[in-house]
Amino acid sequence: MNMAGKLYICGTPIGNMEDITLRALRILKEADIIAAEDTRNTMKILNSYDIKTRLTSYHKFNENEKGQKLVTEMLDGKNVALVSDAGMPGISDPGEILINLCRDAGIEVTVVPGPTAAVSALVLSGIGGRSFVFEGFLPENKRKRRDVLEKLKSETRTTVFYEAPHHLADTLEEIFGCIGNREAAVVRELTKKYEEVKRGELGELVGFYRENTPRGEFVILIKGGNGEKPSSDKFETLGIKEHYNMLIENGYERKEAIKKCAAERGISRRQVYNELI
Ligand code: SAM
Repeated sequence: MNMAGKLYICGTPIGNMEDITLRALRILKEADIIAAEDTRNTMKILNSYDIKTRLTSYHKFNENEKGQKLVTEMLDGKNVALVSDAGMPGISDPGEILINLCRDAGIEVTVVPGPTAAVSALVLSGIGGRSFVFEGFLPENKRKRRDVLEKLKSETRTTVFYEAPHHLADTLEEIFGCIGNREAAVVRELTKKYEEVKRGELGELVGFYRENTPRGEFVILIKGGNGEKPSSDKFETLGIKEHYNMLIENGYERKEAIKKCAAERGISRRQVYNELI
């Protein structure tokens, strides 16, 4: 008979403390150990529901070593509930390593579903959730980041990104610079007091968040395109100045030429303007 314990992957609220399932509360109460990304944070939920289960930390800096220890506990018959700071563990949060360690050790793994910011933002934005791609945070590594943005050019599904408030405007501008103007949504503070959805074209959203300092937690959603790369790629052999001059030669007024050049290259008008002065 297998006397090993189980791993329960538990979803927890992404803002509103009431967004926790009855099953999650029972599992958190009955588990022998709760492995939490930040024990102080999880303590707030446990205190509000009078749960006294032993807490231990499991975060991205101790995932392997702590994962092994937790596996040993489960092989000894203990049940472990895994929680992250918010939402579902394993979604831009630690979890994957422990889940796979359990699978390798033959430990049963089950999920206790809860909210996740990506899906909540997708449905709230109304931008189109029939098919979507979840990218989470853009990679910091420049080459990997470029690769993700390159794919986005011909993506026909809605793409979901997570972003921190202090990077929001830059990231929106970077996406705009790469794919040009596309319909998008920025969803803020889901399930909290200042929950908000801003829909518009990427260019407008860049302008808005340059003017209004972003505060809180954000999800960016980019509507899928028609599958064709933006026309910028057709002009990649042409410099910005040459492109602009070509438009002038074709009879465009200066202002119109800057606008058209920016739109055709998928960059901002300011970038064209800066190149011309
Ligand atoms: N595991 C979480 C989930 O299931 O959504 C994601 C954790 S990730 C470390 C944190 C990011 O998720 C935030 O920077 C933000 O982009 C997004 N996020 C989490 N809670 C949110 C909320 N209430 N409103 C908007 N975005 C949120």
